[in-house]
Amino acid sequence: MMQLFKNLFGGQVDGMMLAQSQELKEYAQIELLAYFAEPTAPHDSTAQRAWNRVLPKPYPDMLARFQKQGWLAPAGNGYQVTAQGRPFVEAYRRRTEEAKRTAMQGVHDALAQMMTSEALTIRRQYENRTPLGKADWTGPEPPMNHSAVTRRIFFLDHWLFDGLSPETVKWLKLYAAEEHLWGAFWRLDPAQIPPQVAQELAHPELDIVEAVYWRAHAIVLLVDNQETWQRVKGGDHVRRLEIVGVNDEHTCEHCRQHLGKQYLVARVPELPHRGCTSPYGCRCRYEPVLEAIEEIPLMAN
Ligand SMILES: [Zn+2]
Repeated sequence: MMQLFKNLFGGQVDGMMLAQSQELKEYAQIELLAYFAEPTAPHDSTAQRAWNRVLPKPYPDMLARFQKQGWLAPAGNGYQVTAQGRPFVEAYRRRTEEAKRTAMQGVHDALAQMMTSEALTIRRQYENRTPLGKADWTGPEPPMNHSAVTRRIFFLDHWLFDGLSPETVKWLKLYAAEEHLWGAFWRLDPAQIPPQVAQELAHPELDIVEAVYWRAHAIVLLVDNQETWQRVKGGDHVRRLEIVGVNDEHTCEHCRQHLGKQYLVARVPELPHRGCTSPYGCRCRYEPVLEAIEEIPLMAN
């Protein structure tokens, strides 16, 4: 197929074909080209080695080829896509946005049925199709038990939900589960928030988008904190947990007094802090404290 196009275009590679190709080695080229949509310096050597695994030619050769084809030109201390290359970048962007939309819908539909491992499979398939195996908006590589932790959201019974109707709790859990599954947080369009939910979650200091955002954020943090605590409590390697979190103008005094403090696992305060008065809710996390070598008692002594 590629050879046929090369012949048709007299050796010129058709950028539109690359942008729409199903072959990783082909569409990866347009993803690299798109990186230079604004004047940008080339990737560092570590990132170039990752690119070299998916490009048909070494990274510097690809940039040279793009320039020869008139798709890329030097700009500042890097490069920028030319007017000739721009349509390929735009076509590729439409394609990646569509892939993201489809994957997010798939995850949403799976989680609406509490099918968490199926949802994680959809995420993995989506990320595996990206040239470097990682989308720029998703969280870090999920741990082995990731979908099981996501699943716990659906079974949570917690004071965070006090006073809310079952319908609102269900809606909020689904939003939080989607974010947990993707390892990313995002704000909703107001039209995506059902009127009943908007009424129940209305907050005197926040608009409704922010109000539901921080409610879901607290739920994600809760299952992750529970997971951290459960993981370390039975083990021998971690004796202490540190409470870490955001310290900004929205951090309340109650949370601030615990920030940076370390506790024995069995004595660590429960998170989220019940006394938290921040409009965002408690943003504190448990961080396992790795023991320094000299603190570990030697059996020989
Ligand atoms: Zn807190």
